[in-house]
Amino acid sequence: MGKTTGFLEYERKEGSVRTEEERVKDFKEFHSALPLNEQKKQAARCMDCGIPFCQAGVMISNMMSGCPLHNLVPEVNDLVYAGRLAEAYRRLCITHSFPEFTSRVCPALCEAACTCGLHDKPVCTKENERTVIEYAYENGLVKEETPKVRTGKKVAVIGSGPAGLAAAQLLNSRGHEVTVYERKDRVGGLLRYGIPNMKLDKSLIDRRVKLMEEAGIKFEVNADVGRSVQASTLLQENDAVILSCGASNPRDINAPGRDAKGIRFAVDFLSEVTKRLLDSDFKKVPYELAKDKDVIVIGGGDTGNDCVGSCIRLGAKSVTQLEMMPKPATDRLPSNPWPEWPRILKVDYGQEEAIWKFGQDPRVYKTTVKEFIKDKKGNLKEVVLVSLEAKKDEKTGRMNMVPVEGSEKKIPAQLVLIAAGFLGSEKYVTEAFGVELDGRTNVRTEAGRYRTSVKKVYAAGDVHIGQSLVVRAISEGRKVAAAVDEDLMGYTNLSK
Ligand SMILES: Cc1cc2nc3c(=O)[nH]c(=O)nc-3n(C[C@H](O)[C@H](O)[C@H](O)COP(=O)(O)OP(=O)(O)OC[C@H]3O[C@@H](n4cnc5c(N)ncnc54)[C@H](O)[C@@H]3O)c2cc1C
Ligand code: SF4
Repeated sequence: MGKTTGFLEYERKEGSVRTEEERVKDFKEFHSALPLNEQKKQAARCMDCGIPFCQAGVMISNMMSGCPLHNLVPEVNDLVYAGRLAEAYRRLCITHSFPEFTSRVCPALCEAACTCGLHDKPVCTKENERTVIEYAYENGLVKEETPKVRTGKKVAVIGSGPAGLAAAQLLNSRGHEVTVYERKDRVGGLLRYGIPNMKLDKSLIDRRVKLMEEAGIKFEVNADVGRSVQASTLLQENDAVILSCGASNPRDINAPGRDAKGIRFAVDFLSEVTKRLLDSDFKKVPYELAKDKDVIVIGGGDTGNDCVGSCIRLGAKSVTQLEMMPKPATDRLPSNPWPEWPRILKVDYGQEEAIWKFGQDPRVYKTTVKEFIKDKKGNLKEVVLVSLEAKKDEKTGRMNMVPVEGSEKKIPAQLVLIAAGFLGSEKYVTEAFGVELDGRTNVRTEAGRYRTSVKKVYAAGDVHIGQSLVVRAISEGRKVAAAVDEDLMGYTNLSK
């Protein structure tokens, strides 16, 4: 702990953000880093706790508390305070594969569990991490390890999201020959085609993938395993196969009129926006996807928020975001104490932009769609909304959200984006390998293990734990790499 009184002297301060008015004009990132002098003060707020909850990464009440990568947070903070950024980078790399991604998109589980946050505001660990990784890139410190000796073992990684990338990185560094198969035209999984560019600039993925390719990792894009690439061929040709193909099976809304033109799954929409921006080198903005439309986003979560922000950039006439559950409290309730993940109201960037543009928060709570109404050509023109209330199911004792009779309301809508969550793995790929699934259609392994029911086949990331977070996918990727390495070599020295 470099500065013993840092937490008393300095207030939490974050980097600046472009105003809503300015940032909705483009799809560029809008957060800037603090000047280094200021960032050092932020790092000085870290108290080097005896028990650093920030790095615990444990499940409490079914939610992750602290960093699942177990980043050496107090040590990194101390090195940032001292201005020893190269050392901070080396320390960060011991546990982390891609700090450039999490320092932009992570909800910062470390900060939610930070002891400083008990009575004041938490340490800016996420922004400290960003300062470290960007310093490392600017100074040529970021390198992917090219192994001096190859083991002769081959590993196929299915899916190039954060889990697959992290697994490929570590297995290649151990000398195994790694090929990553990706069904899309570009590498990155939901980092690429899910999270919008304003949250994570896609050049950051290219910057990392280039280093990985130079270190010997092969990437096969447009390779759909289970369709254009046979699972049996991969099993024959490789010593291990890792399924890291995500949980992209979207939950649908079954209401009358669902076949109306103009109803899309959120990820398909977000992915099309990003693809068209990238294909045209950001010269053609696909305004026609939402311009002058009344948009309804079904789902009050982060994916829904990304849809709100994207539709505002595309010139939507109005945006309404529906959430089935009641509005969360603004502060922690006694039933949700620190260091649990705080279940409190968050106003994210898309919602801020909607407030600026339309004068109100786009979220409507305790509401869902009862019916979609089409015009004569089958195009969506209106939706019927219905309010919901919590009612106890007498048989199960569970509280369910049920429609309130007579609360129906019709509103205009030409575009509906369904962001109602995900149901787990996709059948064609899990069936192609014949792996066992659990009740949620995630690929089953023993708890805390990565081997599936099929020999040589492993699973990691969302396909294993269900739709989660980038940081958890990276953690899964690192752990599956260690498990594969151990099975191939009889031992492993990989850091998980
Ligand atoms: C819109 C959206 C926004 C999000 N925002 C955030 C955020 O801000 N912060 C955060 O921490 N998390 C966020 N998440 C969650 C996070 O992106 C995921 O938890 C994480 O990307 C999962 O990583 P993964 O590697 O397991 O899978 P994915 O990232 O889903 O990658 C899986 C890859 O496998 C490929 N694939 C699937 N099947 C096959 C096949 N048969 N053959 C070849 N390739 C295949 C897919 O095309 C995909 O590229 C968001 C999710 C969504 C949907
Ligand atoms: S919990 Fe907060 S103050 Fe304590 S070591 Fe971690 S970052 Fe520093």
